[in-house]
Amino acid sequence: MKNTIYVVVIVLCLLIAIGIFIKTQSGGPTGVDSIKRGEMLWMMCNNPACKANYQIDKKDYYTEIQESMKASPVLAGTPAIVCQTCNEESIFRAVKCPNCEHMFFYGNPADFDDRCPECKFSKIEDDRKKRREARGG
Ligand SMILES: [Zn+2]
Ligand SMILES: [Zn+2]
Repeated sequence: MKNTIYVVVIVLCLLIAIGIFIKTQSGGPTGVDSIKRGEMLWMMCNNPACKANYQIDKKDYYTEIQESMKASPVLAGTPAIVCQTCNEESIFRAVKCPNCEHMFFYGNPADFDDRCPECKFSKIEDDRKKRREARGG
């Protein structure tokens, strides 16, 4: 009888350990679960026949990205997700310029990811500049 209790305790400990292991592997601070809802991202369709653009929640965006990475892992760049308008895997994250309202795809290998091709405004750069000024340097 005593032995059975030991076995049960050991099995329980193992199950808890496995549970913690799976949780830390799949979750963590970089996981989709840590993203709060409420921040909207612009999306723009790369399909010339569609050219849809709309806003989705940041959390939904990263959930979709994770799904499409699982289906077909990409080595470089941002994977496309399925467009709600044309149902093609051709919609990418976009930026609406806060300065001139021009829409363009997010990501710039040579510069800030949100540099506007029209007026050259970048919110990331602007924020950094403001932070530097706030520090007084
Ligand atoms: Zn589309
Ligand atoms: Zn602009």
